[in-house]
Amino acid sequence: MNLFRTPFFLPRIYPSLQWRIPTKENELFLTFDDGPVPGPTEFVLDELRKVDAKATFFCIGDNIRKHPSVFEKVINDGHAVGNHTFHHLKGWGTSLEKYVENIELCKLQIANHKTHINNFFRPPYGRITFQQIKTVREKYKIVMWDVLTHDYLKNISRKDVLRGSIRATRPGSIIVFHDSLKAERNLTYVLPKFLEHFSSLGFTFKSLPNV
Ligand SMILES: [Zn+2]
Repeated sequence: MNLFRTPFFLPRIYPSLQWRIPTKENELFLTFDDGPVPGPTEFVLDELRKVDAKATFFCIGDNIRKHPSVFEKVINDGHAVGNHTFHHLKGWGTSLEKYVENIELCKLQIANHKTHINNFFRPPYGRITFQQIKTVREKYKIVMWDVLTHDYLKNISRKDVLRGSIRATRPGSIIVFHDSLKAERNLTYVLPKFLEHFSSLGFTFKSLPNV
């Protein structure tokens, strides 16, 4: 089993969540969680621009509040933005009411900068209860992932992050990176090489489709 690839049974247990984009084209869907953060987010934007890639940024509302100008850069580069709660809440152990309220707080931050807001939501840590899914999906498309790069881990070599992520990736993969300080060390090594690898194979990188 490849630890970077989502196990096949999870999408069967949670079919209402989005794990991968059905496509026959060589296209990939990069996602960046936990920004905007000065430094890592700007690094990602520069790297994406080099290969003409579009991505989706799942932003923490409180980070948008703290770093509005970095958030503006994400928008101005034409990337999609998704909701990742205001306080990066873990769904398990959080009441439904508090969870939904935190999502709405994040939405308000996004709305300060964007008139058109899409309905992408990613649960922090991937932890969300069935009850929360039922309520949140009335308003949002809940986006999980096909490939987790593990860029935020400290006890893994950067080469292993790169190798594992490349091996797990296939057409239509939704891939998770983090534009956070915690992931910065791995991210700065892995992302340019990952983009170069798949670009040279003829892959394109797109924002998540609005459907
Ligand atoms: Zn997160």
